[in-house]
Amino acid sequence: MNIHLEDSATVTINSLAQQKINSGMEIYNFSVGEPKLPIHPLLHTAAIEAMEENKAFYPPISGIPELRYSATKWMNDLYGCSYHPKNCLVVNGGKLGIYLLLQLLLKKDDEVIIASPYWVSYPTITQLFGGVPVIVETHEHENWKLTPDKIKNACTNKSKILIINNGANPTGTLYSKQELEEILKIAKQYNLLVLSDEVYSGLTYDNNDYISCGSFDAYQDNVIVIQSCSKNFSMTGWRVGFVFGNENIIKQLTTLLSQSTSGVTTISQWVAISALRNEKIINSSVNQEMQKRRDIMVQELNKHLQISLKAPPSSLYIFISLKDLRIKNISSSEFCKQVLQDANIALVPGSAFGKEGYIRLSFSGDTQDLIMGVKALSDYLKM
Ligand code: PLP
Repeated sequence: MNIHLEDSATVTINSLAQQKINSGMEIYNFSVGEPKLPIHPLLHTAAIEAMEENKAFYPPISGIPELRYSATKWMNDLYGCSYHPKNCLVVNGGKLGIYLLLQLLLKKDDEVIIASPYWVSYPTITQLFGGVPVIVETHEHENWKLTPDKIKNACTNKSKILIINNGANPTGTLYSKQELEEILKIAKQYNLLVLSDEVYSGLTYDNNDYISCGSFDAYQDNVIVIQSCSKNFSMTGWRVGFVFGNENIIKQLTTLLSQSTSGVTTISQWVAISALRNEKIINSSVNQEMQKRRDIMVQELNKHLQISLKAPPSSLYIFISLKDLRIKNISSSEFCKQVLQDANIALVPGSAFGKEGYIRLSFSGDTQDLIMGVKALSDYLKM
């Protein structure tokens, strides 16, 4: 197999920034999407208890039963799904769930429909397993939304999977129930399996409802949901995610997991059980803090750069065009390199998400850093 694998661009920028930090420089790091919060006390207690109770042996491959139960209950109670624990597999982060699913389902030259701007890993993982990413452009003036027509136009007799990222990285796009229903309908008509990446479901703001693709009874059989504790409970480093889908797929994915990671770290699973049992308390605290940080970043950008940016309804990112920043004649990656080099601000170029002419700023970091970082960016742009 001869595949050119790209490092994830967000990881590359972040490691460049990290090198600068290691050499003693101060960096405003807007490149990584992870809620920077202290470990929640309830999760801290759960980790200590798991250790004290010696819960550090190999886990069941598909996940500790209590966790599969709690995760299923979470999806059913909060999002109106009707899963059974047998429909849930515990994986080492949502990313591994996507990886295993594409590994299981793709045959050479199968096409995967992906909306751009996309999360950086979708096309690369698709290619890794011999699939062909079919990129469908969405636009800012359409709120970056995928539509049934766009899907229809992208379909060929090789189309196999449609990836939809509701609560989107990098755009923050959130779909309504009706929009999702129309997308699922067209997907079924064209025999596409829908991989619904819902890892930001708990990070929707301004009282926006979150609708899971797993909640539509009529489409149960052709929807697989990817979920995660990473963003929803500020647990990125514990590496706990979930795949929800029909029992047969879950069984096959379990086999792949048994020949790769052998399941998720036992202590992490006990921490995740606590997160889900205390879902309201922990997710509300993460959600409220992220909404506050989003509002601060939007306010500071608008104030310093004299623009009128609207706050995204979900996720952890501001996706803004270079044109709106009055920057011309430079690619997004060149711009991001220069800003990191000259002003010690780490941003991610839109090209990494398949959208030239834009940059992504994460607002998930510390508030004071957000304020100072936006000021530094505006000073740099005025130079
Ligand atoms: N999906 C999207 C859209 C993401 O932004 C990320 C992480 O940034 C993931 C999946 C993977 O998250 P994790 O593997 O931490 O659950």
